Amino acid sequence: MSLVAVRPLEVPTKEPNNWEAKSPYYQRITTQAAEIIPALGLTKFAAADVLSTLRYPNNALSVSVPVRIGDEIQVFSGYRVQHDNTLGTYKGGTRYHPGVTIYDCAALSLGMTIKCALMGLPFGGAKGGIRVDPSKLSPHQLSELTRNYTLALGDFIGPDTDIPAPDMGTGPGTMAVMLHTYSQAHGGGPVHSVVTGKPLAVGGIEGRVAATGFGVAFLASLEAQRQKKPLNQGYRAAIHGFGNVGSIAARQLSKRGVLVTAICDATGGLFRKDGIDIEAATSHVESTGSLEGFAGGERIVGADLLALDVDLLVPASMEDIINTSNADAVCARLIVEGANGPITAGAHRMLTRRGVQIIPDILANAGGVVASHLEGVQNRQRMSWTRIAVEDKLRATLTDAHRRVIQATLDLGTPDLRTAATAVAVKSIADARKYYHH
Ligand code: NAD
Repeated sequence: MSLVAVRPLEVPTKEPNNWEAKSPYYQRITTQAAEIIPALGLTKFAAADVLSTLRYPNNALSVSVPVRIGDEIQVFSGYRVQHDNTLGTYKGGTRYHPGVTIYDCAALSLGMTIKCALMGLPFGGAKGGIRVDPSKLSPHQLSELTRNYTLALGDFIGPDTDIPAPDMGTGPGTMAVMLHTYSQAHGGGPVHSVVTGKPLAVGGIEGRVAATGFGVAFLASLEAQRQKKPLNQGYRAAIHGFGNVGSIAARQLSKRGVLVTAICDATGGLFRKDGIDIEAATSHVESTGSLEGFAGGERIVGADLLALDVDLLVPASMEDIINTSNADAVCARLIVEGANGPITAGAHRMLTRRGVQIIPDILANAGGVVASHLEGVQNRQRMSWTRIAVEDKLRATLTDAHRRVIQATLDLGTPDLRTAATAVAVKSIADARKYYHH
C-alpha cells in the first residue's frame, strides 16, 4: 500500500447522521475515517463513496423475542445490524447484555467492517444482540431466548449472507442453539457454516474459544518486542474484564512471563503484588460464574485497577471504560484493547499525548474473527485442523497485520496505531469499491 502525506480534509464534513448522533462510538470511528481518507490518495468520488459506506449501515433489524418465565411471557428486544459487505459476507458477534441498543450493534458492526478489512478477511461487518441480563435467566430460558431470536432473524442470517459468532454474554453453547434452530427451520441437516464459535462437537474449530485472548497476548508480545522490551523482562499487567477475552489474555500473558497483578469483572477486582494465580481465578469463575468470593488477592474496585502502576493494561470488558475522567490516572505505557471500543476519543487523545502506545481493538482482538474464518473454511471443506495449525495461522495473520499497520505509521508519519490501522482498512475497502462503480 502506498499512502501519500496527510493533507487537509477534502471530503465535506456533514452533520452527524442518526447512527452517529445516537452512538458516540459509531461517530468516533467515522470521524477517524474522515480524518484519514484524504491521505489515501483516492479520487474525490472514491473518497466520498467510502466515507458514506462507513457512515450508513446497510441493514438494521429489530425483533421481539418472547420467553416464558413462570406463568408469564416476557418479551426482550433483539437486534442485528449489517454494516457493509463490500469485502464479503456479513460477519459479527451476538451480545446478550442489559444495556444493548440497536445503536451499539451498529457501532460494533462498523468496527467489524473495519476489523475484517484490516485483517484481509473475506467478510463485511455485522453485530447482533439482545437487551437482556443473561445471568437472570435459567439455562432453559436462555435456550428459548436464543431459539426465538434465531427464528425471528429468519433469513436475515445465513452462511452466504450473515454469519453470527459469540460476543459478550454468549458463548459456544449459544452458537450451538443458533445452529440447531437455523438448521431445523431450513429443513435439512446441520448448516454448520451459519455460525462460528461453535462447540467442537458440532463443527467448531480447535482454538476458537481461546483465539481472541491468544491474539491479545500475541499482539502485546509483538509490540513489546518492537519497543525492545520483551514481555518476559519484568512486565506487570492489569486486566479489566475476566470473561472469555480477559481470562484467556491473562493466562496467555502469564505463560509469556508477564506478572498479572490485577484482574476484575463486573463484581469487583483483586490485586496481588506478586501476581494473581490466573488458573485458580479461572477455575473460580468457571464454577461460580464470577470473581466474587475469590480470595486470591486484596479486593479492589474496577475503577482503581485502571490506575495501578503496571506496564501493560488490557481493557477486556466493554466500551468507554477508559474515558476523559480517568485517562490521566492510567500509568501503563502500553494498552492492548481486548474489548471493542474501550477507550473514548477524548481519552485516546489524552493517552497518546503522554506517549502511551495503544494497540487498537481492530488489530488487538482480531484473533477471534481470524479463527472464525478458519472455522468457516473448515466447515465448507468438511475437514479439520489441529490446534497447532490454527495457532500457527493465527500468529502468521496477526504478525502480517501488525507489520502492515507499522508500515502505515511510517507512510503516514504518525505514531498512532489506531490511525494507521484504520487507514489500512479503509484503503482496502476503497480499493474494492472502485470496481463497483464504472
Ligand atoms: P464475556 O461476557 O465473556 O466477559 C465480559 C467480562 O467483562 C466479564 O468478566 C464481565 O463481568 C466483565 N465486565 C462487564 N462489565 C464490566 C464493568 N463495568 N467493569 C468490570 N468488568 C466488567 O465477554 P467477552 O466475549 O470476553 O467480550 C469482552 C469484550 O471483548 C467485548 O467488548 C467484546 O465485544 C470483545 N470481543 C470479544 C470477542 C470474543 O471472541 N469473545 C472477540 C472480539 C472482541
